[in-house]
Amino acid sequence: MSTTSSEPFTDRPIGLTSPIGLTEPSGIDRAAHHRLDEAWLAAAWSHPTTRVFVVSGGQVLIDEPTDGTDGEEARTELVMTPAFEAPVTETHRYFLGTDEDGVSYFALQKDALPGRMDQSARPAGLREAGLLLSPREASLVTHAVALENWQRLHRFCSRCGERTVIAAAGHIRRCPACGAEHYPRTDPAVIMLVTDEHDRALLGRQVHWPEGRFSTLAGFVEPGESIEQSVRREVFEEAGVTVGPVEYVASQPWPFPSSLMLGFMAKAISSEINVDGEEIHEARWFSREDLAAAFESGEVLPPYGISIAARLIELWYGKPLPKPSH
Ligand SMILES: [Zn+2]
Repeated sequence: MSTTSSEPFTDRPIGLTSPIGLTEPSGIDRAAHHRLDEAWLAAAWSHPTTRVFVVSGGQVLIDEPTDGTDGEEARTELVMTPAFEAPVTETHRYFLGTDEDGVSYFALQKDALPGRMDQSARPAGLREAGLLLSPREASLVTHAVALENWQRLHRFCSRCGERTVIAAAGHIRRCPACGAEHYPRTDPAVIMLVTDEHDRALLGRQVHWPEGRFSTLAGFVEPGESIEQSVRREVFEEAGVTVGPVEYVASQPWPFPSSLMLGFMAKAISSEINVDGEEIHEARWFSREDLAAAFESGEVLPPYGISIAARLIELWYGKPLPKPSH
């Protein structure tokens, strides 16, 4: 048996002090070669060490540490059960992989999360769970939520319109009418920190964001363009700024519902801002001093959460960003 995982490295760009959310090494081998092996899956499912959790509407149950324990810092955990305790009626079963001890992990998609007697267990979405759980559990939940979102939105064959059925332990949908096989969909999106000749950063506020919330620009890659072209098009469309050199930094799974965020640093070759008013309400160039002062005064809210946007800003800022005050 292999003792190493397929993902032993941390993809953290030089200069970043904190990891990019949802991308830390998990130690999970997705073991895709087992997905079509029904006998193996059945044996894995009934094995006593197998761990199962329920995913429903993008949420899972997490168990927060209670106060007053023995002083060790307890970590929020994903609520998992052995397969024999798992609720199996009307569920889709997703095989997520195995760990270095040979433990198999499954997610069950259900219409609702199971009730829990424990006072400390509660539902959480991936944006929150991804911050609280260990890299291993966050990775399992990311995989499960991505599959659930895809399954929910692709119940019918895009070729002939017939209802499709789940296969490959959650990783394929087959059409019984025309034989088409449909695979999970991932939509590339670009997210970029644009800087100008004075090394100021371009941050924008989306139309529906609250006052004071500024972040990097972002948008979906369109058919027939490269990701670099997509960066330039999006920045020009949203802020009227022309971008020259574009450098890829890192990526992040973003299953809300099915994106893959591709993070860039980009150099502007024009500086006049002309926002589109549809997606971006306001955009500004910030020097590091400007941004520090704006954080201090509360004029700009420090970014928070798992998004790679905060890491791209931090990469330019050169040190950890201040924590939000609430
Ligand atoms: Zn079909």
